Formats: sequence, C-alpha cells, structure tokens
Amino acid sequence: MTEGTDTLRLVLGDQLSDNLAALDDLDPARDVVLMAEVRDECTYVRHHKKKIVLVLSGMRHFADRLRARGVRVRYTTLDDAENTHSLRGETERAIEALRPRRVVVTAPGEWRLQTDMAGWQQRFGLPVEILDDTRFLCGIRQFRAWAAGRSALRMEFFYRDMRRLHGVLMEEDGPAGGRWNFDAENRKRMPGGIVPPPPPAFPPDATTQAVMALVEEWFGEHFGSTEGFGFPVTGEEAALALDHFASERLAEFGDWQDFMRAADPVLFHALLSPLLNLGLLDPLVVCRTAEEAWRRGLVPLNAAEGFIRQILGWREYVRGIYWLHMPGYAHRNALGATRQLPWFYWSAETRMHCLARTVGDTRGNAYAHHIQRLMVAGNFALLAGLDPDQVDEWYLIVYADAYQWVEMPNVRGMALFADGGVMGSKPYAASGAYINRMSDYCGRCAYDVKQTVGPRACPFNALYWDFIARHAERFAANPRMGMPLRALERMAPERLQAVREQAADFLDRMDRGELV
Ligand SMILES: Cc1cc2nc3c(=O)[nH]c(=O)nc-3n(C[C@H](O)[C@H](O)[C@H](O)COP(=O)(O)OP(=O)(O)OC[C@H]3O[C@@H](n4cnc5c(N)ncnc54)[C@H](O)[C@@H]3O)c2cc1C
Ligand code: SF4
Repeated sequence: MTEGTDTLRLVLGDQLSDNLAALDDLDPARDVVLMAEVRDECTYVRHHKKKIVLVLSGMRHFADRLRARGVRVRYTTLDDAENTHSLRGETERAIEALRPRRVVVTAPGEWRLQTDMAGWQQRFGLPVEILDDTRFLCGIRQFRAWAAGRSALRMEFFYRDMRRLHGVLMEEDGPAGGRWNFDAENRKRMPGGIVPPPPPAFPPDATTQAVMALVEEWFGEHFGSTEGFGFPVTGEEAALALDHFASERLAEFGDWQDFMRAADPVLFHALLSPLLNLGLLDPLVVCRTAEEAWRRGLVPLNAAEGFIRQILGWREYVRGIYWLHMPGYAHRNALGATRQLPWFYWSAETRMHCLARTVGDTRGNAYAHHIQRLMVAGNFALLAGLDPDQVDEWYLIVYADAYQWVEMPNVRGMALFADGGVMGSKPYAASGAYINRMSDYCGRCAYDVKQTVGPRACPFNALYWDFIARHAERFAANPRMGMPLRALERMAPERLQAVREQAADFLDRMDRGELV
C-alpha cells in the first residue's frame, strides 16, 4: 500500500456517498482513499454525542463498503496513537507515507474547512484538486447566477425554478395539480386521537457500539448522551428509513407539519435530515420517492408537494444563501442582540413547558422538528434578544443534522432575523398564542398563555410586545409588519408600560439565573 499510489482521495465525514465527485474516476489499483477521525472536527464546537457517533460510525461503515469493493482505504481511528487530530495533519501524514501524484477532495460544506484547504496545494507541494460537490440539486455558481440582479431572493421563486429544472411534480402545462404550493391545506392543529406510526429503529451494531464507547470516553462532557442511539448509519439503512417514511408517514406529513406534541417529538416528520446531510441519502432520490408515492395514489398532493418543497426548495436555498454571503454572514447581527444564552438552553430547567420540552427532546435525541426549532427555541431567542453568535453555536452543537451551511442561514436568517431580511421578509416573532394554537404544551405549563401581565403570565406574550416596541422604528417601513405595529399603536400607554416592565423583570430574573 505504500508504493504506486497515483491519487490520494480524501473523503470527509459528511461525504459518505457512492456518487461523491472525489470517487468518480477512482482506480482501485492505483488510488487510495483517506478517511480520518480527528479531534479537531469533533470539538471545534462541542457537538452532541449522538451526532459524533452518527458521523464516526457512518464513516467506519462507509470505509468497510469501499473495502468490500476492492478499494484501498487508509483509515485513521480517533484512538490511533499516530493521529495528528486535524484533517490537514492526517493528509500530510498520508502524503508522506504514500507519495501520491495528487490529492483529490470534494469541496467541504463549511467555509472554515474550505479556507484551510485553499492553502494545501502550496503547503504540500503537489496538486490538490478541490472538486465541486455535485450531491446538491443547485450548484453554488448556479445559485449565484440565479441570485444575480434580483433585489429579493425569495425561496418560493427559487423553488419553482428548481421544480422546472429537475422536472419534479411537473405536468405538461405547469405544476402538478395546477398550483406550485399547497400550504393552505397544510399546517393544521392535530386532534388528540391521531397516533403517528413510530419511525423504524436501527439498533447499534458492533461497530456503532464501539464508537459509542469511544465517544463517551473522549467527549464525556459534551451535550447529550450516546444512550438510545438509533440513527441509520449505512446507505442501506437510510434507504429503509426513507421507504418507511414514504409508506407510513408521508401521507399525513403536510396536514400536521407545524404541530408540536409533548409526548411525540417526531410526529409525521421524516427524520431524514441527518442522513441527507451525511450523504447517505441523495436529495433527488428522496424527492422522486415522494413524487412516486403521489403518482401511485398512496399520498395526497399536498403532502408530497409540502415535503418536496422542504428539500428541493428550502434545503438548496439555504445552502445557496450560505455560500453567497459567507464569510460576512457569520457576523451579521442586524437587531443588535447581545444577551447571554440562558442556562436552560442546556439544562431544560425552565418553567416554560414549551422550552423545557424542546430542549429536553433536543438533548435526548439530537433532534427537534422544524417548528420546535423555529417557533419555540428560535422565537424565544429572537424575542429575548439573545446574542446570535451564542445561539448559532448552540444550534450547531445540539442537532445531529447540524452543519454550518444549513444551520447558519436557518438560525441567523430565518429564526433571528440577524441577516436583516436576506432570508425572510419579516421576523418569525410570535406570542404564546401561536404556540398554544400549534401544540399541546400550554395546557401543562406553569404559566397561563392567556395572560400578558402578572406572576403567571406567559413570558412569550410580554416579550413579544416588548420586541415589537423595541424595533418599531426599524420595522416601520416593512409592510409585512404593519399589523403588529398598528396593534402596538392602539395599545394604551399604561398598558404598554406594564407589558414592557413585565418583560424587563422576566429578563432580569433570567439573567440572574433564577428559575423562570
Ligand atoms: C433555527 C433552525 C435551525 C435549523 N438547523 C438545521 C440544521 O442544522 N440542519 C438541518 O438539516 N436542518 C436545520 N433546520 C431545518 C429543519 O428544521 C430540519 O431540516 C428538520 O427539522 C429536520 O427534520 P426532518 O428530517 O424530520 O424534517 P422534515 O420536517 O420531515 O423535512 C424534510 C426535509 O426537508 C429538509 N428541510 C426542511 N426544512 C429545511 C430548512 N429550513 N433548511 C434546510 N433543510 C430543510 C430537511 O432535509 C428535512 O429532512 C433548522 C431550522 C431552524 C428553524
Ligand atoms: S404558556 Fe407560554 S411558556 Fe407555557 S408552554 Fe405555552 S407558550 Fe410556552
């Protein structure tokens, strides 16, 4: 293995795809694939333990799959005594050992790594080819071209272009069913009697169990636990998860996609983002599977369209926004938010039942669904004016599907409005009434969602009006903020003062570390 290496092909932890560009013209006789478990990647933020297990176990299984195809793999485990614990260091070590003619790698998904790799060719003194990541449905340059000259980058128009381009849910004369978007039929309040089928379980095999032990040993102080790990870790398992979703849960996905239930954090959601982002599933295959289920009459169009929009639309769009606006995007703080992240984002110790459940689910499963992320954890961070850097880091740590290219625009843009309106035309700010309408949390809360002022008043209510009042001037020119601003104007001055005092008192007590 030490002689005659032509190309060293580096495969990163979130590049576990058979159709990876860096493996395209692989010659098993002359090339070596390099994979490395390094401490730097596990600790640049202190990722949730289940997320590290998912990536490392996925890598080990992927390496086995390559070996079974006759590919030579140089694999560094975390506990290898020679491990330099950085990707650059492991590539350098492999170059010294194998003397390849060139290094090939697929472009990494994060700015941090891409900047580092840009200097590798000079450092290593041999060609380092960084190939476009072709596993997305919209390339980075393609998105740039789409964005050029547009004053507003609205997802809906991008999504329609992607539907046309890839021929997804299209009929001869336009979109299937005559409409691009079936949101009006989606997002209902779920009645009590509906029991969603649980997602399939994938009990850890011997490889995953070994990784779980390693992660507990090396990263014992990280958020969450390895206990109960049940994510798919191979392409075959991921395909089973997709099939199960398409046949058992997709039909009802659209109707209840925004509802939150304390006893069930998954409901009809797909649980596929960790697998898509790792490369175990291909986004076009996922979209085609949903479309096929509709064409065969197994699921209604509103469900298939609502789901496909998330992947063909939102997922590609946020990636485009990330690469369009980095590196400056990472420092955006349009609303000047500076408050420290409260401890209950880690401990779940709060009397606010919605937040206690969202953080509890997140800590237990490294997963929470979109509305928990956006309208509970994100909405609170927005209203309370939490520092975007700290909130950003929290989201990157806690979710198994979190990679900066997808996490950052969702957090800074969609949830915090810290990008000043690149992602959305108005902030997703809501009072307790929204959470009450779209969940069963409020019935079991120490606070009363109907009250805005007083010792039992739901904190989201006063914080909401305080947020609108704090930023009234900034939002005055935004037509989509007209309604809350007019309601604020109609509020009696004494009432507004009492509401703002309620918010200030709550935030003071939270900042002092009291149980709120
Ligand atoms: C504040 C915030 C942070 C988020 N951070 C992440 C993150 O780090 N990683 C991540 O993959 N998603 C993130 N999302 C998007 C979304 O919440 C998750 O993709 C989704 O909850 C994953 O669960 P699921 O597979 O059950 O999704 P479903 O609800 O079943 O949706 C299907 C698929 O659509 C895609 N999708 C849906 N919405 C989005 C979106 N806004 N952006 C990108 N893809 C989307 C995902 O791939 C998902 O698997 C975030 C959203 C918010 C509001
Ligand atoms: S009452 Fe307020 S704090 Fe309690 S669960 Fe409802 S929205 Fe959350």
